[in-house]
Amino acid sequence: MARIVQKFGGTSVADIDRIKNVALRVKREVDAGNEVAVVVSAMAGTTNQLVDWTRQISKLHDAREYDAVVASGEQVTAGLLALALQDLGVNARSWLGWQIPLRTDGVHGKARIEGIDTALMRERMAQGQVPVVAGFQGLGPDNRITTLGRGGSDTSAVALAAALSADRCDIFTDVDGVYTTDPRIVAKARKLDKITYEEMLEMASQGAKVLQTRSVEMAMNHRVRVQVLSSFVDLPGTLVVDEEEIVEKEIVSGIAYSRDEAKITLVRVADRPGVAAAIFGPLADAAINVDMIVQNVSEDGKATDLTFTVTKADLDRAVKVLEENRGLLGYEDLSRDANVVKISVIGVGMRSHAGVAQKMFRALAEKGINIMVISTSEIKVSVLVAEDYTELALRALHSAYGLDAA
Ligand code: ASP
Ligand code: MG
Repeated sequence: MARIVQKFGGTSVADIDRIKNVALRVKREVDAGNEVAVVVSAMAGTTNQLVDWTRQISKLHDAREYDAVVASGEQVTAGLLALALQDLGVNARSWLGWQIPLRTDGVHGKARIEGIDTALMRERMAQGQVPVVAGFQGLGPDNRITTLGRGGSDTSAVALAAALSADRCDIFTDVDGVYTTDPRIVAKARKLDKITYEEMLEMASQGAKVLQTRSVEMAMNHRVRVQVLSSFVDLPGTLVVDEEEIVEKEIVSGIAYSRDEAKITLVRVADRPGVAAAIFGPLADAAINVDMIVQNVSEDGKATDLTFTVTKADLDRAVKVLEENRGLLGYEDLSRDANVVKISVIGVGMRSHAGVAQKMFRALAEKGINIMVISTSEIKVSVLVAEDYTELALRALHSAYGLDAA
């Protein structure tokens, strides 16, 4: 007997037939003699609709009421799935965040999980009951409903799996696993059987949308075995596991891309100590995250250009902050560009191999693609290029690293 957490995303519970199909999948695990806990998202499109309603009512909405509204989608699916299971003769009961309770901090709209009390749930599971948990929501210190940020039900599921010491956390989604890159763009993309936590974390944070980044962090910290798979086909998915479990380590396992970035260049900034701090301080104060940074060497020793990226959503605010501080920063000109894409090649094998970045630069050069900014970490090389080249660059890199399916 194994203890399994099954999580079903919005497309898997998009309508009544699909909820019934999910119930059959849960029943199958139960019939196999496993202890099962289920976590559900809201029906596809529901959360977007709820968020939109809060915006229509009030632009400066109260985050507590935002949470009260957007958490409701998961309540519906938890109740419906419990009913569908009961209909199949499976003993099931819905659980809302506050009923568990799943405690979070007080950051409404983007709360972090602080603890899950599983005593009662374990008792019920031992009696053969299947808990159907509303994902995405918790209980804040103010005793009010919180939500975990968009895509947060992945994190609910992994956290519950950790708290229940589950043998596995199966995340059912609309793709049948984690691919070497986006298969909608690169037809030769391959599904990976396994990927390490570290690689999955980079893939998620560099733009692959398959899992919420926080859920991967949580899985890595608590060593939860996560499987990403589809609820529409009967195939094994991708296992996210410890590095030791992967014998054949690829130098590059995957290529992620993000169209979420925008580039800002400050032209002729004074080249003296303290300038970078003066620029990035006000941005940090405005809670604007800066990602990639390059500073050119100054030719005359006096002034230099500084280029960096922020998210597209923060671009207008970032420019405003920099313009407000122009007197202090003393740059000559500011240019902005939202038509960029960040492409990252990721792989734990990079740690022990040289020439990975070089191969990337050569492959892009051969296609005549200009690189605007480069950044690297231990298991990743990222470049910023013009957005128009997204497809071409992804395909070229996918071939260059030998990832193409035969
Ligand atoms: N329903 C929420 C969202 O759409 C949470 C989730 O699905 O993970 O963001
Ligand atoms: Mg999701």
